[in-house]
Amino acid sequence: MADFKQRWHQLEQKAKDIGYRTTDRHLRLAVTGLSGAGKTAFITSLVEKLLTADTQPPYGGLPLFSVCMQQRFLGARRERQPDLNIASFGYENAMQTLRAELPKWPQSTTNISELRLAIDYQPKSGWLSSLTDKATLHLDIVDYPGEWLLDLPMLQQSFIEWSEQLLAPQSPITKTSGYSEFISKLTLLELDAEPADETLASVSDSYRQLLEELVHQRGFYLAQPGRLLLPGDLQGTPLLSFFPLPRQLLRNAEGTPIKNQLINNLEKRYSAYVKQVVKPFYQRYFEDFDRQLVLVDVLGALNRGRAQFEDMANALNALNQSFRFGKGGFWQRVFSPKIDRLLFAVSKVDQITREQQGNALSLLKQLLQPGWQNADNSGCLVEAMAVSAIKTTRYGMAKDRQLGEVSVVSGTALDNRNTVTLYPGEVPKTLPNDEFWQQQGFQFVDFAPPHIAADQAFEHIRLDHLLEFLLGDKLS
Ligand code: GDP
Repeated sequence: MADFKQRWHQLEQKAKDIGYRTTDRHLRLAVTGLSGAGKTAFITSLVEKLLTADTQPPYGGLPLFSVCMQQRFLGARRERQPDLNIASFGYENAMQTLRAELPKWPQSTTNISELRLAIDYQPKSGWLSSLTDKATLHLDIVDYPGEWLLDLPMLQQSFIEWSEQLLAPQSPITKTSGYSEFISKLTLLELDAEPADETLASVSDSYRQLLEELVHQRGFYLAQPGRLLLPGDLQGTPLLSFFPLPRQLLRNAEGTPIKNQLINNLEKRYSAYVKQVVKPFYQRYFEDFDRQLVLVDVLGALNRGRAQFEDMANALNALNQSFRFGKGGFWQRVFSPKIDRLLFAVSKVDQITREQQGNALSLLKQLLQPGWQNADNSGCLVEAMAVSAIKTTRYGMAKDRQLGEVSVVSGTALDNRNTVTLYPGEVPKTLPNDEFWQQQGFQFVDFAPPHIAADQAFEHIRLDHLLEFLLGDKLS
């Protein structure tokens, strides 16, 4: 009997989920960005805003979110997540870390995760408002690493093309300290015998170490295959045991592709990765997203230096390819995405003064390249904003001996918890030129999250504007 009840409950839940997903009352919002872009802090803060908006005066702390401004927001609550095979987003843990006596940033997520909220609101218009004075939007928020989108070009590249692109002479990977050792290891490989699994695993581990150095020590962004550093549940599987080969092992002196057992095996591993990892990601998850937010840490990239900033620009461009749904494009032939609103947001703009936030936004638009807003998308609305999930600073004015009266930001430094007041420097409006990099003088500090009272919500910058773009029409 208990079994029957449980089964019945599961069936009911499933039927409800299908019902929600096929009506206007369900929305799947995907959040992505490269590691460190601020996804975890953003989702935690956004969920907190929605869960507490009915108790925060005035207008739920979200005056630009019309459902709050028009006082139609009735409340939000957590609901059981719909997909049992996706990890849950660790909201409670993240909140505890942020609200500890000594507030810290939550641990970044490195895999796909989700959570579901139910938002109760008073409908303003349409058939719903004539039938009921309370409606519910079921909102799924899905977090996934932007690095996974960098694999998209692999769907159209052969193993040889992929290798040649990754190990091209000017590529940053060729400048890593372990690169020549990696190449020597490759030249020792038996070319005409079936390579042992252990050998492939060991060489791919050396390749992974190059990527680790590139991304974690030197601050670059582009690392392929995307799952090697962020394997999710593929950790330790042979699907990740492959690596690119340099041109001298791929082509003979005339430029003709070489054929041998090693290349043959790596080609097989490469296509297994594309078929079993890259494609299913788009088919299983991507096709289901209704709205997409891409967070971009433009300020962090500027801080790291020219080569890293340019690498981030390339990564963003590669990532953006996943959202080009235009007619006759790649998407129309392979999948049918239904994302109808796409938002790019510069994150963490609380680190700079108010005047500089406009510059950060125009720089993001430049990075997205001309025509980004059309993005040859069929019917997809595209927007860009500058936001901060958790405002860690206060704005003020200070006197500088050379510059005179200047705008400053002030907050608690994350490392030593001292109060820091500074003019963080000027953010370029357009893509930085040589002169900029020669004179660059940024002081973007890692600020700690502020300590706030238990009944207060964290301050933010423009999350209400962002919510209006991403959810406003679904709550009207
Ligand atoms: P993820 O890897 O994309 O999930 O990025 P996280 O959310 O873990 O953020 C990475 C780091 O960026 C955090 O540890 C913070 O130091 C910083 N950060 C994130 N959001 C904000 C924000 O709104 N303001 C400030 N000042 N720093 C932030």
